Amino acid sequence: MHTITMIPGDGIGSEISEAMRRVVESTGVKIEWDIQEAGADVMDKYGTPLPDHVLESIKRNKVAIKGPITTPVGSGFRSVNVALRKELDLYVNLRPIYSLKGVKSRYDNIDLVIVRENTEDLYAGIEFEEGSKDAIELIGFLKAHGAKMRFEDAGISIKPISISGTERIVRFAYDYARREGRKKVTAVHKANIMKHTDGLFLRVSREIGERYPDIETEDRIVDNMCMQLVQKPELYDVLVCPNLYGDILSDLCAGLVGGLGMVPGANIGEEHAVFEPVHGSAPKYAGQNKVNPSALILTSVLMLKHIGEREAADKVFNATRDVIAEGKHVTYDLGGTATTSGMADAIINKITG
Ligand code: NAD
Repeated sequence: MHTITMIPGDGIGSEISEAMRRVVESTGVKIEWDIQEAGADVMDKYGTPLPDHVLESIKRNKVAIKGPITTPVGSGFRSVNVALRKELDLYVNLRPIYSLKGVKSRYDNIDLVIVRENTEDLYAGIEFEEGSKDAIELIGFLKAHGAKMRFEDAGISIKPISISGTERIVRFAYDYARREGRKKVTAVHKANIMKHTDGLFLRVSREIGERYPDIETEDRIVDNMCMQLVQKPELYDVLVCPNLYGDILSDLCAGLVGGLGMVPGANIGEEHAVFEPVHGSAPKYAGQNKVNPSALILTSVLMLKHIGEREAADKVFNATRDVIAEGKHVTYDLGGTATTSGMADAIINKITG
C-alpha cells in the first residue's frame, strides 16, 4: 500500500483529479490518498494558500500529485506551485514531450524529455526594484568594481548558477537517461555570452558527461537550440537546461506536440516529489466536466513509475494512448464530444479489459 498526498487544486482541478484517481485505481494498484486542499479557496480559513499541514503531509508521504492551482494576478499571494518547489527543494522539473497519434500537431515523431533546473538562475528571486535604496547601492558597488552601466535607472535581477546546483541537475539527467534507456543528453546554455553562469553550467555538464560513457553528450547554444527544435526535433533526446531556458523550451516543445493540455510534469527533489501537469486551472471551464484529463492522467504515469509501479504505469499510458488514437471518446480539444469523466471511463474500460 502506498500513501500519496493528493491536492486536487482549484478551477478544473477537482474534475481532472477525480478522473485521474479512478483511472489509477482501475489498475489494481493499492493507494491510500491523503487529500489536502491548497490555493485561494483555503486562504480565508488558514490565512495562507499553502497551510503547514499540506506541506507536512507531503513531507510525511514523500510523494504528492496535484491539480493546477490558480495564482490570482495582483493578489499578493505567492504562487503555491513555486512555494512548494522552494520549500521541498524540488530541484528537478521533468517534462517528457512526445507525439501521440490522434493529437493534431505539426510533427508526429517527437519523443524528448526536458530536465529543467528548478531552483537557481533568474528564478532565484534575488531582485532589486529600480530606484530602491538597495538597487542604487548595488549599482554603486558594481560601478566601483568596473561594471559599465549606460543607464542607472535599472531594476536588477541576479542570476546565480552554482557548481553544486548544476552537478545535481546534470547527474539527474544522465541517471534518468540511463534508467529510461535513452541515448543522448544535450546541455543547453548561452556560455558564449554569460561565461561565469552558463559557462559554468556547460563546463560542469561536460565533466559529468564524461562519467557516463554509455550516453552521448553534446551541447547547444539556446538560440540555436530553438531553431533546431523547430527544424529537426527528432534529433533530440534528453535536454538538460538551466531554469529560464528550460521554462521557455518546455512550452516551445509542448507546442510541437499539440499544446499544453497534453504535457505531464514532475518536480523532484532528493526526498520528495510533486507530480503535476504543465497546464493551469482553466477557470472558465471549471465545473463543466468538459476539459481533457489526459495531462494529469499522463502525469500519474510518471508518479506510478516513481513509486516503482511500472506495470500499472504502462497500463495507464497504453490505455490513454489508445483512447486518444481511436478518437471516439475524447474531449473537445481533441476534436471529440466526450466529457472529462466519459474519457476517463473509456480509459478505465481499456485497462480493465
Ligand atoms: P491554463 O492552462 O489554465 O489555460 C489556458 C487555456 O488552455 C484554457 O483556457 C483552455 O482553453 C486550455 N486548457 C488548459 N488545460 C486544459 C485541459 N486540461 N483541457 C482542455 N483545455 C485546456 O492557463 P492560464 O489561463 O494561463 O492560467 C490559469 C490559472 O492557472 C492562472 O491562475 C495560473 O497562475 C494557473 N496556473 C497554475 C499552474 C499550476 O498549478 N502548476 C500552471 C499554470 C498556470
